[in-house]
Amino acid sequence: MVACPCGSGRSFADCCRPFVRGELEPPTAEALMRSRYTAYARRDEDYLFRTWHESSRPLTLDVDAVDWRGLNVIGTTGGGPDDVEGTVTFVAHHSTGAISTGSMRETSRFVKQDGRWLYVDGDVD
Ligand SMILES: [Zn+2]
Repeated sequence: MVACPCGSGRSFADCCRPFVRGELEPPTAEALMRSRYTAYARRDEDYLFRTWHESSRPLTLDVDAVDWRGLNVIGTTGGGPDDVEGTVTFVAHHSTGAISTGSMRETSRFVKQDGRWLYVDGDVD
């Protein structure tokens, strides 16, 4: 079994893979956030653009700069199957090259548009 990069404890096939492949829509903001983390870890730019709200979507992304080492979801507000907005607070661990490691804590904002959760923006603590 290939463990899912998002740290859910489930296999990639049973967790984020159907989302990043476009076979299923993430049902919650947290599921989208986890799948976007997985996309960063797997350097899947297409999925990141696809799940970024058009109001804040960047023109380019540099997904090669950082190696992502782990994710902890700290908490959520809203973001459930019946909600249209929500936030997810998380800590993501990373390294840049062999020497430098660190982590970032962010509260991300998500909206649901036409039945799809999208990332809007986030506040880094
Ligand atoms: Zn996952």
